[in-house]
Amino acid sequence: MKRDYYEVLGVDKSASAEEIKKKYRKIALKFHPDRNSDDPEAEDKFKEASEAYSVLSNEEQRSKYDRFGHAGLGGGGQGFSDFGSFAEDIFGDIFGAFFGEGRGGTPSGRDLATRLEVTLEEAAFGIEKEIEVERPEPCKPCEGTGAKPGSSPQNCVQCAGAGQIQIQQGFFSIARPCPRCSGAGKIISDPCNSCDGKALVVEKGKLSVKVPAGIDHGQRLKLKGEGEKVAGGIPGDLYVEIHVKKHKVFERRGTEIICEVPLTYAQAVLGAEVDIPTLTGTEKLKIPSGSESGKIFKRKGEGIEDLRSGRKGDLLIRTYVAVPKSVNGREKELLEELSTIEGKPVAEEVSFFDKLKDFFD
Ligand SMILES: [Zn+2]
Ligand SMILES: [Zn+2]
Repeated sequence: MKRDYYEVLGVDKSASAEEIKKKYRKIALKFHPDRNSDDPEAEDKFKEASEAYSVLSNEEQRSKYDRFGHAGLGGGGQGFSDFGSFAEDIFGDIFGAFFGEGRGGTPSGRDLATRLEVTLEEAAFGIEKEIEVERPEPCKPCEGTGAKPGSSPQNCVQCAGAGQIQIQQGFFSIARPCPRCSGAGKIISDPCNSCDGKALVVEKGKLSVKVPAGIDHGQRLKLKGEGEKVAGGIPGDLYVEIHVKKHKVFERRGTEIICEVPLTYAQAVLGAEVDIPTLTGTEKLKIPSGSESGKIFKRKGEGIEDLRSGRKGDLLIRTYVAVPKSVNGREKELLEELSTIEGKPVAEEVSFFDKLKDFFD
């Protein structure tokens, strides 16, 4: 059952055109789909009111309706699907003020993303870096309207600047992007020469990025408002994804830094003081005598700090006994002598097959 149009708008049958317009304006502003995107009931109310207004604002239609009710309008009547035909004049002033930017509400720029490469040291201690960005910004000559300076975009007649139209299907109506303006809500009849009517142009610029100490590979920094900029709207955000370059000697595991340091057999057996790399330079590390290959030495707090707590991780030095690929004559002599003392003769020319034979004997 269709509700009475006067009831829908909450006006008397004797209401003046001005009164009807005023009431409709109030309802339309309250229930406009752009302000109630998740509320289908609001959309229904908006459509109901719009339909009522489309009839009651038209003298001829109103008098027909007054005499014959809904039946007087014939067929589907002036349903919401025909809405566009009368929308221009009323929406021009009703929504012009705050739905001025096409798709209703405040326009917003898209979020953008970029990458920033840093060294492990930079990630560990934080750094401020300059990055180059290319982002769409409002075209200057047309001030981001897309219309030739001196002219201005007009609200689309078909969707009244809403960017979408309602398609009636039986009892239901479905919102579709407006085909006339492609969902923009505005029509530019005289496009700006600089941007071809696109309103935005890609500008190159530089931005300073503060990379916090402790950031890890793949983490993203959000630079609020540094994304796409649109005229009179909220700019998008810029996400900067951090790429930490692979380090020559360090491997990172969370807040820990791991480094492998080779020792000679003699250093491992007799002990030594060796140079080890740290994030800031080099340090001395005392290797006690009789250190097994694979022994780990910990330097507390010399790792990377935790991004949130600020607590510092450790630097882990994993030592291993490096076997030289070749030795000179004197070294060979000493090693052979050593093996004799140890009672473990060096296998001079024992082939793998000789060993295999021993195994089966
Ligand atoms: Zn349109
Ligand atoms: Zn322009």
